[in-house]
Amino acid sequence: MIELRNVSKIYKTGDVETAALKDIDLTIRDGAFVVILGPSGSGKSTLLNVISGLDTVTSGKITFGDTVLTDLSVDQMTAFRRDHLGFIFQQYNLLQNLTVYENVQIGSDLTKDPLPIDELLEQVGLTAARDKYPYQLSGGEQQRVSVARSLAKNPAIIFCDEPTGSLDEENSKRVLELLERLNKTYQKTVVVITHNNGISEMADDVIKMNSGRIVEVTHHETRVAAR
Ligand code: ADP
Ligand code: ADP
Repeated sequence: MIELRNVSKIYKTGDVETAALKDIDLTIRDGAFVVILGPSGSGKSTLLNVISGLDTVTSGKITFGDTVLTDLSVDQMTAFRRDHLGFIFQQYNLLQNLTVYENVQIGSDLTKDPLPIDELLEQVGLTAARDKYPYQLSGGEQQRVSVARSLAKNPAIIFCDEPTGSLDEENSKRVLELLERLNKTYQKTVVVITHNNGISEMADDVIKMNSGRIVEVTHHETRVAAR
């Protein structure tokens, strides 16, 4: 479980201060599929970045199980991120000179306890493309490779920042449905930032942000109860 208590983030650029997060309280349950919605500039990326330690908080406390993330040093947080967290971004960040299989292997090389690469390629529907290079794949296929790579290291949580931002509607839907299925199959907590309202019905929790605040949280209890 991840808990945020009174978390604020103020960016200072010269004399200009931007309150990107204002006194956020939030609980993310283990195994939940969580969607963060909100207009551009509402603080979604900042929220994800402070939870995952890519950015520091200005004040407040973030805990992950027994670990107080906001007490960790930069090096400790880097190690924590490497060992426990997976990331998917709008850009696929695949290595162009490696095959699909080898790109996924990068994820499994990060841990002693990886998920099997062949199984993951099957899950994302890319078994037949295992020896292809990224330039031979569509955008949707490339993003599915990065989904497999992030899962390969067997993280507790996968953070996705606009994973479908570069995809057309059909491919977006396919990637989001894939994330939702993998959330169930592997019992990974998945936190997704998206502009795509259509994803809401798949989520356990929908968090709506506006101007640095959480303005609405919707729990879909039936989905959680069904686990
Ligand atoms: P969203 O992801 O919802 O688009 P962000 O978290 O990126 O929102 O941004 C929230 C607010 O914080 C915006 O006003 C944005 O301009 C500002 N902001 C984000 N990152 C920085 C930064 N590194 N330096 C200064 N301001 C920032
Ligand atoms: P998104 O809406 O997808 O979050 P943004 O354009 O808001 O995209 O932000 C993209 C990146 O730029 C983020 O990492 C964010 O932290 C950073 N950023 C956003 N606003 C600012 C800003 N005013 N100054 C510096 N960096 C910013």
